[in-house]
Amino acid sequence: MIFETEYVKILNKIDLISPSKYGSTRNYVDGAVTYISPYISRGMLSTRQIFVSLATKGFTWQEVRYLVQQLAWREYFQRIWQAKKEAINFDIKQPQTNIAHKYIPTAIVNAKTGINAIDKAIHLLYQTGYMHNHLRLYVASVACNIGLSYWQLPAKWMYFHLLDADWASNACSWQWVCGAFSAKKYYANQDNIHKYTLDTQKNTFLDTSYEALPLQPIPSTLIDVADIELKTILPKNQPIQIILQQPIFVYNVYQLDPEWRKNEIANRILLLEPSHFEKYPMSAKTIDFIIALSKNIKGIQILVSEFADFKTKYASCKIVFKEHPLFQHYEGMCDARDWMCESVQGYHHSFFNFWKKCEPMLIQDFDCLKTNKDGFQE
Ligand SMILES: Cc1cc2nc3c(=O)[nH]c(=O)nc-3n(C[C@H](O)[C@H](O)[C@H](O)COP(=O)(O)OP(=O)(O)OC[C@H]3O[C@@H](n4cnc5c(N)ncnc54)[C@H](O)[C@@H]3O)c2cc1C
Repeated sequence: MIFETEYVKILNKIDLISPSKYGSTRNYVDGAVTYISPYISRGMLSTRQIFVSLATKGFTWQEVRYLVQQLAWREYFQRIWQAKKEAINFDIKQPQTNIAHKYIPTAIVNAKTGINAIDKAIHLLYQTGYMHNHLRLYVASVACNIGLSYWQLPAKWMYFHLLDADWASNACSWQWVCGAFSAKKYYANQDNIHKYTLDTQKNTFLDTSYEALPLQPIPSTLIDVADIELKTILPKNQPIQIILQQPIFVYNVYQLDPEWRKNEIANRILLLEPSHFEKYPMSAKTIDFIIALSKNIKGIQILVSEFADFKTKYASCKIVFKEHPLFQHYEGMCDARDWMCESVQGYHHSFFNFWKKCEPMLIQDFDCLKTNKDGFQE
């Protein structure tokens, strides 16, 4: 599994998406998933861009509906983040129940849970920076609902290692699994793992019924826990050159869009703020990936600095950036992000309330994009 960092190759990935195969196989480890989240999370591709591509390729709404619904999950979590801000760092709907501690089982960190499919997925996460959605669910369920960890530290651990690290999708999904953002906790037993990972392992602590799973004591493999330290290694600063007569366009780990204001003359800075990484640490692999992606932005220079210091130093320059919940302390001109469903905003209590509002608009938009494309071809 290789995550290309060259923009042209990344755009080619969108052309390879097969929405109907995706719909029938997405939950299986060898299913036709898209592997585009590292690019969406890093702000290089937008959900809107994928949507437009699907609409103009001649697919029907029924063929793309399931994939569009998954893209809408991302937007749903982003809207929650915008509305709740740092409150998503804590239990959103109700406190997580049945917690034994606030650490992470060392068996998860060491990929030694004894559940082969899960251990394999953790090894793969360390190697590639990617984990399949179903495996993320299994890991979160084992950590929180079987090992009885509070969700925050295990979520931070997973975020640290993911190339697609997105704090909204991450924190909300962990809370969805542990029941802090859902009506009930998510459990998966060994049969479920067999079905989606094609594994056949027997006699594990998950090899039991759904009735028995929540009642068992913490399995011995998950008793040992740790308070792990996650540290980001940022690059050393090289001298940068700022032309004071030109504006400064600020990029960050969530905003690496090479198309953004690309024809304008400006200083372009990838700003890596140490205080950001103190709160939201990322692995060396993810930082390398981000730096490689940033090379697609012509003239980009990398600067490790706090925004306030940077702003003071270049006080005479106009600063422009894109809106993002984690960078609200930026000052200057703020551009909006691209959305599939621009007008459905704010906090929605459930995804299905959100989706009910989005779907009719998306269908209309989809038909319109299709018609324009067909009209253009005639
Ligand atoms: C515990 C847990 C932690 C997660 N942490 C993250 C994270 O840090 N960053 C992140 O981007 N996603 C996260 N997800 C959501 C999801 O697992 C990934 O977006 C997906 O697996 C990415 O792979 P893909 O692009 O091949 O997905 P595909 O299945 O091909 O999906 C296409 C796109 O739809 C969106 N999408 C699909 N499933 C989800 C979902 N469940 N939630 C939100 N958007 C979705 C993504 O933008 C994805 O790129 C997490 C899920 C769980 C259960």
